[in-house]
Amino acid sequence: MNDCLFCKIIAGEIPSKKVYEDEWTYAFHDIAPQAQTHVLVVSKKHTPDVAHNADLTDQELAACLRTCAKVADLQGLTGNGFRIVNNCGENACQTVKHIHFHVLGGEKLSEKMA
Ligand code: 5GP
Ligand code: ZN
Repeated sequence: MNDCLFCKIIAGEIPSKKVYEDEWTYAFHDIAPQAQTHVLVVSKKHTPDVAHNADLTDQELAACLRTCAKVADLQGLTGNGFRIVNNCGENACQTVKHIHFHVLGGEKLSEKMA
């Protein structure tokens, strides 16, 4: 097992509050929510970020977005809307180098994205 935090969460070695799981993705509540609802969607296959996506098939990459929509539905966000955020690399302040998407909602979000 590598030393990746999200790989350990996917493997169940570190506990998480699961929202949804399928063959390609795992979704769980962020430990430090930045909105009323803040769920992380991660690819089950490790790749560091969106820029380095060659390890993932189109199916695995697309599944991340589909799971974001599924999570929004499960969390009751679809009606009023939600935001999907991906931090890629240093300038975006990515802290966990395992590809993931933030699903944020449950309240009116900032008009500014950065
Ligand atoms: P990034 O900054 O890389 O885009 O996002 C990493 C996210 O992972 C942050 O929002 C942070 O709060 C979350 N996070 C870090 N460690 C843990 C953890 O152990 N469990 C959970 N559920 N979330 C974590
Ligand atoms: Zn990983």
